[in-house]
Amino acid sequence: MKKQYAVIGLGRFGSSIVNTLVEAGHEVLAIDSKEKRVNELEDAATHAVIADATDEEALKAIGIRNIDTVIVAIGNDIQASILTVLVLKELGVNKVVVKALNKRHGQVLEKVGADWVVFPEWDMGERVAHQLMLPNVLNFIELAKDYNIEEIKVPPNMSGKSLKELDIRAKLNLNVIAIKSKGRINISPSPDEVVQEGDGLVMIGEKINLHRFADFE
Ligand code: ATP
Repeated sequence: MKKQYAVIGLGRFGSSIVNTLVEAGHEVLAIDSKEKRVNELEDAATHAVIADATDEEALKAIGIRNIDTVIVAIGNDIQASILTVLVLKELGVNKVVVKALNKRHGQVLEKVGADWVVFPEWDMGERVAHQLMLPNVLNFIELAKDYNIEEIKVPPNMSGKSLKELDIRAKLNLNVIAIKSKGRINISPSPDEVVQEGDGLVMIGEKINLHRFADFE
C-alpha cells in the first residue's frame, strides 16, 4: 500500500530519507524552515514547503495530522527537535520517527512521545564495524538480542553442493530461507538446490552460529 510520509529537516539525513521513499514510490511532503533547503528538494519530493516545525499553527495548516508517518530529521537544534515531536504527538500524528544527537536527547524524545528514536552515527558505526569484522556477511537484520537474519556468501568449499548435502540445519542449527544468485532470489529453495561460490545464503538463526558460518577467508 502506498503510504504518506512527511520529513521535517532537509539536511543530509532528511534528504536521504526523502529520496529513498520517493524512489520506492511513496508520497513525501518535505518541510524545512530554510527556503534554500526546500528549493533543493522541490523536484525530488511530492510536495515541499517552508515552515517552522515548532509552530503548531503552521503544522496544522499543512495538514500534518493526516500523514501516517512523520520523520523529524532536525539534529543540531535539540530544543526544536523536542518541541516538534511534542507538537506532532499532540496533533495526533500516528507514528513519529526522530533522529537523536545523543543518549540524553533520545531519552527526552521518548518521554515526549516519539515512537522510534534513531541514532544514525551509532547505528552506521555498528554496521561498518560488523562489515569490517565479518566481510562475508552481505546484509543482516537483528531479530532479537541473540538472533539475526543474515545474508552470507557461500564459501568456496561449499560450491557445487546441494542444501541437502550441506545439511546446515543439522550442523549449525541455521535455516536457509532464501538463496540469492546473480541478481535473482529464490525464496523457497528445495533441498536439491545447488549453491555456488559467491551466491548469498539468507539464513535465520543464532548470531553465534551465523558468525561461525561466516568466518572463512
Ligand atoms: P544533517 O546532519 O542531516 O546533514 P544539518 O547538519 O544540515 O543536518 P541540522 O541542524 O541537523 O543540520 O538540521 C537539519 C535541517 O533541519 C536543516 O536544514 C534546518 O534548516 C532544519 N530545521 C532546523 N530547525 C527547524 C525547524 N524548527 N523547523 C523546520 N526545519 C528546521
